[in-house]
Amino acid sequence: MKLPWYVISKGSLLHHLPLIGKSTAQSLGPIILIPDNIYRDLKSEKPNPRHIALLIHEETHRKRQKKIGYLKFAYKYLFDSKFRFQEELLAVKEAMRYLKSMKIAFDFEKKAKFLSSYVYLWPVSKEYAEKELHKVWDEI
Ligand SMILES: [Zn+2]
Repeated sequence: MKLPWYVISKGSLLHHLPLIGKSTAQSLGPIILIPDNIYRDLKSEKPNPRHIALLIHEETHRKRQKKIGYLKFAYKYLFDSKFRFQEELLAVKEAMRYLKSMKIAFDFEKKAKFLSSYVYLWPVSKEYAEKELHKVWDEI
């Protein structure tokens, strides 16, 4: 599918930057960085719906950053773990909406593990994250 201008592949160069990493996507200001293999799949004719869900997730972050202000968002995201978790839940919710409409299962355990991990500086326990994820899924 056709991707908007602000969706960029991390390519091979960006993989070497600290904190950016190889396997995760980020929304940085107006730009969305996507791991190269996922980027290529998204540009194909029939992208994997899970990759589309990832893009929806990042688009939600991008919109929120724009609304709140990039600097304010970045500051709060870094220093306020409650804010960070809530923003993740919001982004997850939009991705879930898509997955649910496509009748694709959501891996609660895996996502809860990820959301409560060092990647997000341990904002909540895994049990709490899993409970909240189920709540969001049932809401939509
Ligand atoms: Zn996120």
